[in-house]
Amino acid sequence: MTRSPSPSPLRRTKIVATLGPASDRPGVLEAMLKAGVDVVRLNFSHGAADDHRRRLEDVREIAQRLNRSVAALGDLQGPKIRIARFAEGAVHLEIGQAFVLDMALDANNGTAERVGCDYTSLIDDVAPGDRLLLDDGRVVLDVISIAGQEVHTRVHVGGKLSNNKGINKQGGGLSAPALTEKDRQDLKTAIDIGVDYLAVSFPRSAADMQEARDLLGEAGKEIGLVAKLERAEAVANDETLDAIIEASEAVMVARGDLGVEIGDAALIGTQKRIIKHARTLNRAVITATQMMESMIESPLPTRAEVFDVANAVLDATDAVMLSAETAAGDYPVETIQAMDRVCLGAERERIAQESGHRIHEGFARIDETIALSAMYAANHLTGVCAIACMTSTGYTPLIASRIRSGLPIVGLAHSPIAQRRMALYRGVVSIPFDTTDMDPKTLNKEALKLLHAQGLAGPGEHVILTRGDHMNAHGGTNTMKVLAVDSE
Ligand code: PGA
Ligand code: MN
Repeated sequence: MTRSPSPSPLRRTKIVATLGPASDRPGVLEAMLKAGVDVVRLNFSHGAADDHRRRLEDVREIAQRLNRSVAALGDLQGPKIRIARFAEGAVHLEIGQAFVLDMALDANNGTAERVGCDYTSLIDDVAPGDRLLLDDGRVVLDVISIAGQEVHTRVHVGGKLSNNKGINKQGGGLSAPALTEKDRQDLKTAIDIGVDYLAVSFPRSAADMQEARDLLGEAGKEIGLVAKLERAEAVANDETLDAIIEASEAVMVARGDLGVEIGDAALIGTQKRIIKHARTLNRAVITATQMMESMIESPLPTRAEVFDVANAVLDATDAVMLSAETAAGDYPVETIQAMDRVCLGAERERIAQESGHRIHEGFARIDETIALSAMYAANHLTGVCAIACMTSTGYTPLIASRIRSGLPIVGLAHSPIAQRRMALYRGVVSIPFDTTDMDPKTLNKEALKLLHAQGLAGPGEHVILTRGDHMNAHGGTNTMKVLAVDSE
């Protein structure tokens, strides 16, 4: 049951790596893809449209050369609320001192007494007694009063505060809508440069995801929406969380902002809850932020980071994500290698391979029933080396991959869009499979040949194959077969 295909073990957990100046250095992007990046993240919080376009062109060119399906995730900045700038670039705040967030102050004229902020609704969104966290919680302000355009605070945790740092409200409740003017522009750029997934930052509800979907329009049919869960209200109850998950193709445990809003103690259970809910609702899930943070400056991860990545793998996340480590760090390639190693190590653990997913539930769809049955059979029959799904959109492999297993799930799809979509799914390997010139009677044989050629199946082993009677019909999967790989 735990056999991993030769020659080298396949990592099930996918790696999302953010691109940036570090990956722009000569040879680095190619080395990162070779080290195992499955999805690249284009972060619209930084860089211009042309940077993202050029980077994605490079990714596509290298991926094609390496014969890999690498997906691109565009990540919209969202309504990150920020202070404006200081006349001197930065100030130092002392504990107990008064400090004013002044909506009317010139954006470049902040001092140690006050700083501007262009989110003018702040005066309506906060009340005396609220706690504001700046720069991911490094500086903490307690709101004392609101006077006109000014929020008067007392410094609870002091320290250095520099230009454009983010503001979060503890417990959530800032009312900024999820999609800003800039996001609407970036969304068009994302469509234009051809991303496979698009992440919406700070959605409060399913309606915010629907708004993004409406903006994507026709183009969105081929783009998977990712909801970044990073507001307290998005995870405050199961109803809201589940509605956001169902309005998306995937979700992200965005631990940076989420941790600031709900506090680090609540983050632990919330990560596990989000991953569980996403998988139960047949959606993919990415665990993000500070996974290998120390590797921005060091060639080795800390033990704590090793265990954090491993914990997310044991939680059954589809993917783990790197941010500054690969976008701006000194060791982008080493970070991918470390993540690859740690994921593989964690995946050897028994709980990473066993599943009680939907075991007590009735099924409503034929294709889902086949996908789940295939996994049940594969996990229990001795001598099975892989599950192969002939698929047009990647849906059957998605459903199958919600069940934990030690066996590779091979998505056989013709469309490059479907192939890249599958790059995010845990345990799924996609192999291009064009059936147009194949005799329908030989399809199964051709599929086995391909798995054999890729080292995923060998003589004497069995492959569990799923397909529909009519190829290329979405949702048509209705057949499962146990096929023996023969020696020719
Ligand atoms: P960010 O989102 O990197 O865009 O801030 C992720 C997070 O908040 O964890
Ligand atoms: Mn964030």
